[in-house]
Amino acid sequence: MRAFLVAVVALVLAVVSGPSSAQELSALARLDPAQSAIRDEGEGLALTLTLSQPVPWRVRLLDDPRRVILDFREVDWSGLDRMAETSTRVTEVRAGSFRPGWSRLVMVLDAPMVVQSAAMGTGQGAVVTLRLMPATPKGFAEQAALPEPPEWTLPDPAGIAPAAPRGTGPLTVVLDPGHGGIDPGAERDGHSEAALMLLFARELKEVLVRDGGFRVILTREEDTFVPLEARISIARAAGADVFLSLHADALAEGEAVGATIYTLSEDASDEAARALAERHERDDLLSGVDLSEQDDLVATVLMDMARTETQPRIDRLALALRQSIDAAGLKMHRHPIQQAGFSVLKSPDIPSLLLELGFLSSASDLERLLDDDWRAKMALAVRDGLRAWAAEDAALSALRKE
Ligand SMILES: [Zn+2]
Repeated sequence: MRAFLVAVVALVLAVVSGPSSAQELSALARLDPAQSAIRDEGEGLALTLTLSQPVPWRVRLLDDPRRVILDFREVDWSGLDRMAETSTRVTEVRAGSFRPGWSRLVMVLDAPMVVQSAAMGTGQGAVVTLRLMPATPKGFAEQAALPEPPEWTLPDPAGIAPAAPRGTGPLTVVLDPGHGGIDPGAERDGHSEAALMLLFARELKEVLVRDGGFRVILTREEDTFVPLEARISIARAAGADVFLSLHADALAEGEAVGATIYTLSEDASDEAARALAERHERDDLLSGVDLSEQDDLVATVLMDMARTETQPRIDRLALALRQSIDAAGLKMHRHPIQQAGFSVLKSPDIPSLLLELGFLSSASDLERLLDDDWRAKMALAVRDGLRAWAAEDAALSALRKE
């Protein structure tokens, strides 16, 4: 069975490198939800996907949680929620853009299953049929551990020139619009957190660049999936002075209203903050990235040392932002500064904050986020906070050197 599976993966990848790039970019394949389905079949699972045209694709398994992943060149997934999904063995289905030029479908399995057959039939459009059969946990884990082919590894964040040494040039700010692509984040009334945060990040970038005192880099410029780890790498490659992750999540429990600033801590402020951080990890994991634990002892000690220096700077940054948002008369949460274990904030030496501009679970927060004037005021407030912090930080750093 294993030999066959490897053959399936190899075959599908061969298709990936096939067509010329001109063809690939010509059009988006569309899903036909009426002709697509996920069903239980015997002890296994059957997936049928009907697309408007053939595209390069591949299938692979990932563990923890157990997932089947199908990657395609540019598929428009609209209507996915109308596809028949009657399987009792699939606990979650999600799809969207995964990286530029690629779309991903993820099915979370509630039991170990491996690929029995995978094919794309072409004629009028294309029909993907995938059959999974039960496997042992060990059998699944072996399949999931197959390495990615080298051509599939994430590209390095290229083309970002490192910043000038601290204090000598503009402040390098890396803005990180949360979620994107296959992971839309919170959704409400047709609005997604991913789209709203990209909009705000662009507007904030404009305000900061116009100010003249900032150099700004976005971790994503479009509706595409960027793993949490890659967001940190982009900040590092850019020589960021500040990393600001932008979110507007939905919180189930309690009334969460107003802008909230989160700093990194292993001890979350409360249950809601902990749940928020965990959900971000899970979104990343489901989308196909496994964060590897950094447990090398030397690295940990070095990180702790860097963090000891950075922590007071982060605390002052959080305070400066809180004061400037408050001074602008913008709605803040009743506990405006909180702590949680967000992976994206784990750079030991770059002051990093996560700003929830509001919560999509609150109707009034959504209304504010959709208001151009409100967003413009918020962008100015963030600029003022960054400015005030940078001045204070430079003064304190000069004092320390004396
Ligand atoms: Zn979020």
